[in-house]
Parts: sequence; C-alpha cells; structure tokens
Amino acid sequence: MTHEDYKRLAIEALEYSYSPYSHFRVGACLVCENGEVFQGANFENASLGATICAERCAASNAIIKGNRRFKSIYISCDSGYAWPCGICRQVMNEFKSCDMQIWVGGKEVEWKMMKLSQLLPESFGPEDLGV
Ligand SMILES: [Zn+2]
Repeated sequence: MTHEDYKRLAIEALEYSYSPYSHFRVGACLVCENGEVFQGANFENASLGATICAERCAASNAIIKGNRRFKSIYISCDSGYAWPCGICRQVMNEFKSCDMQIWVGGKEVEWKMMKLSQLLPESFGPEDLGV
C-alpha cells in the first residue's frame, strides 16, 4: 500500500463515524510497523465522556489483532484539520514505533505531517515504567 492509499482509507473511514452530537466526523487509517493497516472512526455517546476518537478506534482494532507498534496514522475530517487530542497522543505514545508520523488532511486540504515527539514533547511513556 502507498501513502495515497492510506490517505484514501482515512477519508473513507469518515463514512463510519457516529457523530450525531458534534457532527464532526473523523476518520483514521493506522499503519502498523508490520505493514498492517486499520481504519477507525469517531463514535460519540450521549454521555459525552464516553466518546471514542477515530485514532483510538483504529488503535483498538490494531491491538486486538496483536499489533503493538504503530508506524504512522492518517487522520481526516470533513473540512480543515483534525490534529489528535491529548488522550490520543498519549495512547499513540504507548504503541509508537520509533518516531511515529502523524498525518492530517482531507478532501479539501493538503496533508501535513508532524512527528509524535513534536506533538507530545517530554512525554511520559512505557520506558518511564521500565517497559
Ligand atoms: Zn482523541
């Protein structure tokens, strides 16, 4: 799969979003170190704190298939950019492979990339607990 395939899968994942409250659809395509790819979409809840972001949805899909190392993620929304929230940055920090690439973009905007270390500097992670 190519970079363009990952972008397409992130945009396609928008269709799986369940976002009746915010109407802010987010789709993600997570690329694991072994090349496996997992889509995710945000799904909201009437108890808003139970909402799951697209990034963590994709991570859950990868983790239950045994993946523990994430190489990159592509995140798309309907307009503008959807940079990952703080919780998702922390979750990706747990399973990052080297310096994970975070791509954001979509149908109407150019894609941008930042490294996870730029988005979550001086982070706390598994290495701090000897894992
Ligand atoms: Zn999030």
